[in-house]
Amino acid sequence: TFITLEGGEGVGKSTQVRYLVARLQARGIKAIPTREPGGSPGAEILRDILLSGMIKDLGPKAEAIIFAAARMDHIDHTIAPALAAGTWVICDRFADSTRAYQGALGGLDPGFLRALERVTVADTRPDLTLILDLPADVGLARAAQRRGAAEASDRFEGEGLAFHEALRKAYLAIAAAEPERCVVVDASQSEEEVAQAIWDTISHRLFD
Ligand code: C5P
Repeated sequence: TFITLEGGEGVGKSTQVRYLVARLQARGIKAIPTREPGGSPGAEILRDILLSGMIKDLGPKAEAIIFAAARMDHIDHTIAPALAAGTWVICDRFADSTRAYQGALGGLDPGFLRALERVTVADTRPDLTLILDLPADVGLARAAQRRGAAEASDRFEGEGLAFHEALRKAYLAIAAAEPERCVVVDASQSEEEVAQAIWDTISHRLFD
């Protein structure tokens, strides 16, 4: 079973990945946490390259191709082998991040991104995608707080309210377009409440 957590900056994806993996394991289900960009040794190197901004004149299309290359490596070395072994994979960001960031926000041609997704993701599609949804001002404040807490910030962070609003809209549009796969979760609740809402969704969708 392949589950992805998506959403804008500061919505709590990585925290919820940890909660969910712990809860699955407590139930005796083999599960691993992973993340994008990254999630395999090669993809983590590509993550550093992307987030550091070390390539100064990287165009948006070339950048999208590097995100796609990282995703392919992540699938080949981490996701696909785990799924083949019957292990649940819980992933912090996946292809919807490319649709939202490089597509809706970056303005890349949807046809180009669809083609890229087709060749990289192929049949390794999530069974369920949880879209963590937060009002833009709350996401902005949480992202700023996180930066203040001296967590390594990257060149993609530090965008303003309009950016957070556009991102939220992009994710909600993805959820509306694929309701069989996507569930929107209210991420403005406490960590424990969000974790419970996610668990209820999973119980309902995957265990019933
Ligand atoms: O989720 P995390 O903070 O680890 O993501 C790292 C950064 O990469 C984020 O700031 C996000 O804006 C950016 N990103 C992106 N395009 C993607 C995935 C992530 O711009 N497809």
